[in-house]
Amino acid sequence: MTVNNIKVDRMKRRLVVIGNGMAGMRTVEEVLSAAPDKYDITVFGAEPYGNYNRIMLSSVLCGDKTIEDIVMNDRQWYADNGISLHAGADKAVVRIERRARKVYALDGTCAEYDRLLIATGSKPVIAPIPGNDLEGVISFRDILDVNKMLAYSRQHKKAVVLGGGLLGLEAANGLVLRGMDVTVIHNSEVLLNRQMDRKAGKMLQTALEQRGLKFRMAATSQCLMGDEKGHITAVRFEDGSELECDLFVMAIGVRPNISLAQEAGLYCERGIVVNDTLQSYDPAIYAVGECIQHRGDTFGLVAPLFEQAKVCANHLSAHGVAEYSTLPAATKLKVTGINLFSVGDFLGDESCEAVHFTDPSMGIYKKLIIRDNKLMGAVLYGDTADGMWYQELLEKKKNISDIRDVLIFGQAYLTAAEAA
Ligand SMILES: Cc1cc2nc3c(=O)[nH]c(=O)nc-3n(C[C@H](O)[C@H](O)[C@H](O)COP(=O)(O)OP(=O)(O)OC[C@H]3O[C@@H](n4cnc5c(N)ncnc54)[C@H](O)[C@@H]3O)c2cc1C
Repeated sequence: MTVNNIKVDRMKRRLVVIGNGMAGMRTVEEVLSAAPDKYDITVFGAEPYGNYNRIMLSSVLCGDKTIEDIVMNDRQWYADNGISLHAGADKAVVRIERRARKVYALDGTCAEYDRLLIATGSKPVIAPIPGNDLEGVISFRDILDVNKMLAYSRQHKKAVVLGGGLLGLEAANGLVLRGMDVTVIHNSEVLLNRQMDRKAGKMLQTALEQRGLKFRMAATSQCLMGDEKGHITAVRFEDGSELECDLFVMAIGVRPNISLAQEAGLYCERGIVVNDTLQSYDPAIYAVGECIQHRGDTFGLVAPLFEQAKVCANHLSAHGVAEYSTLPAATKLKVTGINLFSVGDFLGDESCEAVHFTDPSMGIYKKLIIRDNKLMGAVLYGDTADGMWYQELLEKKKNISDIRDVLIFGQAYLTAAEAA
């Protein structure tokens, strides 16, 4: 039997995937490798492409890569692997009928499943301020957003980015490289305050200012103002001051995209609640990626999602041995020439000790947080060579009492000290 030019094998079970992004497609790749003949796979994606590397959108914005460079699986790949792909805005799934085990897309396309995988990712948070619906107010999540930013950079001069987190700084850096005059508004006095302490945050700010970025720190925007055509012209702050802009990029975080799952009656809190095998409260429905909540955690980086994909595929393939557990994910900023690394609890509390190393003229700062002879967190600025080593010590909960005296100097120093 043939459906959409794809041969359907009646002996196979039917796996339907909602969400054509990084977590969903990694899971499909893992299923194809673990159990290539187990499923007839149908994928629904609300974006009109194959699968691309979302984290490289920053590189496309700043001109290091093109959209073509970041495509991971083009439409041909789906065809080659016998996957039925429905991609495009009208192919967004709008209803899951759990009793009948069917999903429906906006245009009426229907697919039946034995197993359903929800991988709908996140939605950008839009600041609830007047004027947030003006033309020229956008987020930074997908190819469409990048194309809008590129179009603005060709025709306009002034941009404001709301949010001094990873995404906001990468957006601002890209827009500066595209010739725009960019100011970042941040609600804290410290950039990347979820990943960096005050000292590292200030070093980062200085380095970014040298690259042309401007900052309004510890500032709160009150409203966005527009012209008679409904296009943004300025942002007004709580202190009454104003800043002109033609483009306003909101990069203040994401929220798990769970509306579809909620409407289907799946148990959700902040995300779709899953167990250690990535199963939702409906045993026929799995979920992975930024849309899930696992043991209270939600996610915003790809490393844990790829781990989830592995575990989920293991169960979908009926090998059924893997269990997912969340490990601290490391943070890096994709701005060429700026090296920073942060993992774990980088602030600590009164039960912790902090070990510091600073070399101002080399622009190097390191801080390690230790509790009970175990590394709890690390912040590295300027020299990040030992980031992975610290992360490994942290993940493996290694007792560091024997190497504590050289720990801050890094793995190479330790090896040299041992050899001596
Ligand atoms: C610019 C940028 C830079 C980033 N940089 C980094 C980085 O350096 N390091 C890092 O670890 N992480 C980074 N991230 C985060 C990373 O990209 C995400 O963690 C990851 O993409 C999440 O994967 P996901 O599959 O859960 O969601 P997504 O990749 O967003 O995929 C979800 C897909 O589901 C689709 N969808 C949603 N609802 C429906 C529906 N009803 N029907 C059909 N399809 C639907 C969406 O259109 C989307 O294509 C970055 C993100 C951005 C935006």
